[in-house]
Amino acid sequence: MHEVRWMNEAIQLAYRNVESGNGGPFGAIVVKDGKVIGTGVNEVTSHNDPTAHAEVQAIREACRLLGSFQLTDCDIYTSCEPCPMCLGAIYWARPRAVYFSFDRGEAASIGFDDAFIYDEIGAPLEQRRIPMHRLQGDTAEDPFVLWRTSHGRVEY
Ligand SMILES: [Zn+2]
Repeated sequence: MHEVRWMNEAIQLAYRNVESGNGGPFGAIVVKDGKVIGTGVNEVTSHNDPTAHAEVQAIREACRLLGSFQLTDCDIYTSCEPCPMCLGAIYWARPRAVYFSFDRGEAASIGFDDAFIYDEIGAPLEQRRIPMHRLQGDTAEDPFVLWRTSHGRVEY
């Protein structure tokens, strides 16, 4: 069951992140069994890390705490609708649900427009803004074959 107090906490993280000059106006928390197990704020500029979005940071912290690569039975509360990168991370983390407050339109109105990434996903490779080319290697090592036959693999 979602609770507004968790959303308020995510929004407050976002607010304080701007106040402190740490990064963009985004905060996220991961909640499990009524407890916060991970928090994150946007630290792209302060950490020189383009992947340091609030949701990714919160997912990393929660997974570290749980000692797991997925967020079973967890809820993510994020101050803003996730961007495509975070959406991907969320799907890999497999939480129970995601709640967001501000939406992508509101984010776009203050300069955080991620619509172009959604467009890129749908665009053919040769029409993307960043050229993406398939280049097959000629090494004999095949990691896919090794994975398929590996007994020690941990599937996810
Ligand atoms: Zn993001």
